Amino acid sequence: MEEKLREYARLLVRVGLNPHPGQRMIISSPVECAPFSRLCAAEAYEAGCSEVVMNWTDDAMARLKYFHASDEVFDTVPLWRRHFFNDHALEGTAYLAISASDPENLKGVPSDRIIRAQRASGKALKDFDRLQMCGGFPWCIASIPIPSWAVRVFPDKGEAEAVDALWNAIFAAVRVTGDGKAVERWQAHLSTLEKRLEKLNALHLKSLHYKNALGTDLTVELPEGHIWESGGDHTLAGRSYIANIPTEEIFTSPLKTGSNGVVYASMPLVHDGNVIEGIRFVVKEGKIVEATAKKGEETLKAAVSVDEGAAYFGEVALVPWDSPISNQNLLFFNTLFDENAACHIAFGEAYPCLEGGQKMSKDELKRRGLNDSITHVDFMIGTADLSITGATREGREVPIFVDGNFAPEF
Ligand code: ZN
Ligand code: ZN
Repeated sequence: MEEKLREYARLLVRVGLNPHPGQRMIISSPVECAPFSRLCAAEAYEAGCSEVVMNWTDDAMARLKYFHASDEVFDTVPLWRRHFFNDHALEGTAYLAISASDPENLKGVPSDRIIRAQRASGKALKDFDRLQMCGGFPWCIASIPIPSWAVRVFPDKGEAEAVDALWNAIFAAVRVTGDGKAVERWQAHLSTLEKRLEKLNALHLKSLHYKNALGTDLTVELPEGHIWESGGDHTLAGRSYIANIPTEEIFTSPLKTGSNGVVYASMPLVHDGNVIEGIRFVVKEGKIVEATAKKGEETLKAAVSVDEGAAYFGEVALVPWDSPISNQNLLFFNTLFDENAACHIAFGEAYPCLEGGQKMSKDELKRRGLNDSITHVDFMIGTADLSITGATREGREVPIFVDGNFAPEF
């Protein structure tokens, strides 16, 4: 176990963030994950970081706050917090986020408080968000188990057993075996993704048509000059980093007003401390005009109305049904893992997936047809029978996905 933990911490710091000597690093971490965060901090100092700054989080404190804090608290972000995130982003500080939460931590909280807090934070942390989207600093989101989450994934196991089982599932998903070679395995994995996206980029697709037996029948138009990207990212300064570990996806940005049809989520979505099941969206000229769910509909409706852009798509991502995460046949109740088990779409903010997009201003990206929002929420749509057909600008049809997986030429 000790070996695996060290190998994992090393992977996150050395490959996930790849800091240069003298760079500062923030670690956002639940208090329960302190021992693992210390391993990451030690690894960061060994990599030459000048300072590791902690941002501790706690589910229980968050829940107390959402229920009991004064109402006006949810409309403001204190100045120190703005400075903490924005100043560090402007300085290029590396950012490691350990994501681990009880999937229903905020169940019962009035969604109005959650949405107002999100709006306030979106406004206050503009610099941080902008620089995060365009490669202004390296960032990496990863997860380790906490008991409240583990027992949701393994409801038939006791707490300790569930935590062990979730550790094993995570290690398998992130290719950590304890042999010290996770870094090499990731380099090979990233080059596989790279080859796929090169083939997709060569097609210069105009649109994608999604269809499956769940009822999804959706056309998504792609902007001219769009590029497919993979989890292997580069900062503006040209240093590699991986924004999500694990990552199995190849993604691009859709044209804001170019989606039409119906799309069904294929897995539950954990969002804002609530579980949403049975999502169905009807989309017209890019806009979600109907949002329904079998469970958590209120949370879903609130999520797509955070701002104007929340009702439009900002990402389409391709993940084969046959992937190391999907093959575990496990619902992780954590988007970081679940989105890498299935094709997904996000509503909200688009990544600047255009040629030269990293250097474009917000206004320029909008002019080119990309969506802008303070939110970005991935929901899973992939199934074993999903077909995706691409159309080129010359009108040629190309099978991209057949029966849930990439067509053989990819
Ligand atoms: Zn994605
Ligand atoms: Zn996403």
